[in-house]
Amino acid sequence: MPPTFQKPKRRVNCVFIHCSASDNPEHDSAATMDRWHRERGWSGIGYHYFIRKDGTIEAGRDIEKVPAAQRGNNVGSIAICLHGLDAEKFSQEQFDALSSLCDQINRAYRAQVTFHGHCEVSNKTCPVFDYVGVLGLIDGRMAITVAEGALQDRYAAPDKTPVAPGSLTNMRLRAGDRGADVEMLQRELMSLGYRPGKLDGIFGSLTRAAVLAFQADNDLATDGIVGPVTLEAFDFASKRQVAPERAKASLLTLATSGSRIARGSLANGIAGLALSGGGVIALVQELTGAVDDVNGIVGPLQGVLSEHGPVVGGAVIAIGLFIAWQSARTGKARLEDHRNAKTL
Ligand SMILES: [Zn+2]
Repeated sequence: MPPTFQKPKRRVNCVFIHCSASDNPEHDSAATMDRWHRERGWSGIGYHYFIRKDGTIEAGRDIEKVPAAQRGNNVGSIAICLHGLDAEKFSQEQFDALSSLCDQINRAYRAQVTFHGHCEVSNKTCPVFDYVGVLGLIDGRMAITVAEGALQDRYAAPDKTPVAPGSLTNMRLRAGDRGADVEMLQRELMSLGYRPGKLDGIFGSLTRAAVLAFQADNDLATDGIVGPVTLEAFDFASKRQVAPERAKASLLTLATSGSRIARGSLANGIAGLALSGGGVIALVQELTGAVDDVNGIVGPLQGVLSEHGPVVGGAVIAIGLFIAWQSARTGKARLEDHRNAKTL
């Protein structure tokens, strides 16, 4: 069994494959590599893993340490060496072990690492064998294969998200685009609390406005174009939060900030209750939903009441009650819209 790969704390973005440049069975061990590398004056074996002809994976240099394996390209890498020199003499067991180890690494980094041969950064032929074919690399990337059915719940199992090489980087949606991808985008925006308009698969001005708002909320470049960065942000973004001062707004704050509807409903409601002799405090609580606001309402309330003056008579009281009820309803609806950001 190969050792279980554990992500090191240091940053890693690539993996390099090497060969030991020997087919001598006496050299088929991490210990030999360690000796050779010490003889070169290094602190020990330069590779993190050594794969023997029989497919055994031996641990080499501490994975937390930068390897000494590809001059000028050691930082950010993991180095793996297979014992062998002649391309024909590498064993299937070695290839299976390499595939399994690289698959572990690839999954640990959610396919965000690239795989290379030493020859890509030097004039050597190392690792001699067809590592691209063995690992099935496309542009240095290894595909993550998933079991059938695992696709269905990508949110529940993000680590199993298959990443087809290049597919993420090619997608780019912008105003004017149409199709299933745009509809998916609209659904994604809506599920996060944005308003992209009709879910019609047309990237129109409302969808663009929603994208811009999403980008602004998530500290992304606000270009209205949905590229790989914005797409990735969807996976980590939380549902849109309505600004706290908006969510806390009361009818009174709306009225004092210039909403005529709120002002009217507040005035009528207070007048109505005042007329009917009902408790003003009760109305304030009803309209603001907060007892704390009562203290702050006394000033404006006196103004509203003085506008309406004292009225007497049974009919007027009845009308007042009706107005109070009606006003409280419109006021509440308006408040609801404001709190839910349906209005500006
Ligand atoms: Zn090499």
